[in-house]
Amino acid sequence: MGELRKDYFTERLVIVSAERSKRISELKEEEQPLKSECPFCPGNERLTPPADLVLVEREGTLLKLTDSEFEVHPNWSVRVFPQAASSVSLNPPSTYSDSPLYSEPAYGYHYIVVATPNHEESFSKMSVDQWMNVLATTQDKMRWLYSQKRVSYVAVFVNNGRDAGASIPHPHLQLLTLPRLPPLVEEEATAVQKSMYELGICPMCSVVGAELGGPRQILATDSFVSFSPWAPTHAFEFWIFPKRHQTSFLKVAQKEIRDLALMLRSTLGGLSRALNEPAFSMVFHTSPEKKTTKQLHWHIEVYPQLTRWSGLEKGAGVYINQIPPEQAAEVLGMNARKELASLIGIS
Ligand SMILES: [Zn+2]
Ligand SMILES: [Zn+2]
Repeated sequence: MGELRKDYFTERLVIVSAERSKRISELKEEEQPLKSECPFCPGNERLTPPADLVLVEREGTLLKLTDSEFEVHPNWSVRVFPQAASSVSLNPPSTYSDSPLYSEPAYGYHYIVVATPNHEESFSKMSVDQWMNVLATTQDKMRWLYSQKRVSYVAVFVNNGRDAGASIPHPHLQLLTLPRLPPLVEEEATAVQKSMYELGICPMCSVVGAELGGPRQILATDSFVSFSPWAPTHAFEFWIFPKRHQTSFLKVAQKEIRDLALMLRSTLGGLSRALNEPAFSMVFHTSPEKKTTKQLHWHIEVYPQLTRWSGLEKGAGVYINQIPPEQAAEVLGMNARKELASLIGIS
């Protein structure tokens, strides 16, 4: 339960969460659970709330099922349930106030998508079919979340590895809804809107065109391209864009899902192969479904966690990156192409 506060001067948002407030001595990192106690493992389903959506394969067909208080479906492939302790909630305290002490209730939903029943399997080793199941299930849940009231944005993100803030090592995604657009998405959408209005072109389409086949490209598939961005905030950071103008992850059709799964699996596999499985965060930037004027060219950003941020990064918004993106793209590209070749069976 929390309130959403905005900075005195800038658009920066902070969820101040009373329910999760801890004594200062408890702010240090929590112990990760042992595999036998992992709440995301098969057999431990009772440690989480009942699942809203369980993907189960029966005789070659994927069924979408729902758990109840009394029945938990076993043998699942992907499992989606509400996060028990969240900073957002459906009954937040009613805390409205105006700038400079701007505050609104942190109203929202928070869901976990467990990406595989296998505790040890990582996003970088998972099969392409499993990735497809994960992406399709995430789309399903996102669609439902956007149909709920007071949902302006569904943030989709992954914390993978201890250094990226994951408290549970079992691979999972998180879906957290916000009652307003997050500032980074708003900034990107405003830039797109301005260029569309003034020049009639999507600036993100121009970037895709410029990076395709260039020195920062990592991999290109039929529908997607991945590249190290021109000014990456993290060493070995990379972005994945649909090649054609597409505003939302929800618009990715069934036939493109395989292509995206192949792209994610190859690039994350390449990152893992090149740098010995570094921790990383992955974030989707996608257009909100309700405000049609705020549209962007949806994409995924991956930030490997190889160094810690200093005062300059935290306090000035200026980042130091000791790996030029052109060099990062060469290393990631070589490794991602090897992964792709092994996945589609060419040597
Ligand atoms: Zn587990
Ligand atoms: Zn575009």
